[in-house]
Amino acid sequence: MAIQKTYSMIKPDGVRNGHIGEIVNRFERAGLTVERMELGMVTLDQAKANYAEHEGKPFYDGLISYITSGPVVKMVISGEGAVAKVRTLMGATNPAEAAPGTIRGDFGLIMDENVIHGSDSPESAEREIGIFFA
Ligand code: UDP
Repeated sequence: MAIQKTYSMIKPDGVRNGHIGEIVNRFERAGLTVERMELGMVTLDQAKANYAEHEGKPFYDGLISYITSGPVVKMVISGEGAVAKVRTLMGATNPAEAAPGTIRGDFGLIMDENVIHGSDSPESAEREIGIFFA
């Protein structure tokens, strides 16, 4: 499989609840490389650009206020099949349905606060890296 880059972000609840080290450790143990990493806020413009596909959905406003509510960890992750590998490590979107051993299964509590983001395709990854590491 080809070497890919993906964008991943530890969301405000993941930072607030002290899971940064464990999440980075899981990525590295899976053979992935952290290429860039920055702790900081998500601006309103970045939030809207990242979640443009969800505009108009019932959860959209809550999602935008949540993702801008506190510091996040923005990361560029690289490695063989990095996009799918990060998604597998993350687990299902709803923490209640995420398998034990996945990041959301182990550290997530509710759908609205599900610990981590990861690009869903190489195209999304390129777009999202551009949004957060302009
Ligand atoms: N989300 C939500 N309620 C929903 C669906 C999604 O709050 O009913 C949020 C959740 O934070 C999720 C994000 O919107 O991570 C993006 O949704 P997507 O379906 O793209 O899931 P993901 O790719 O993050 O697993």
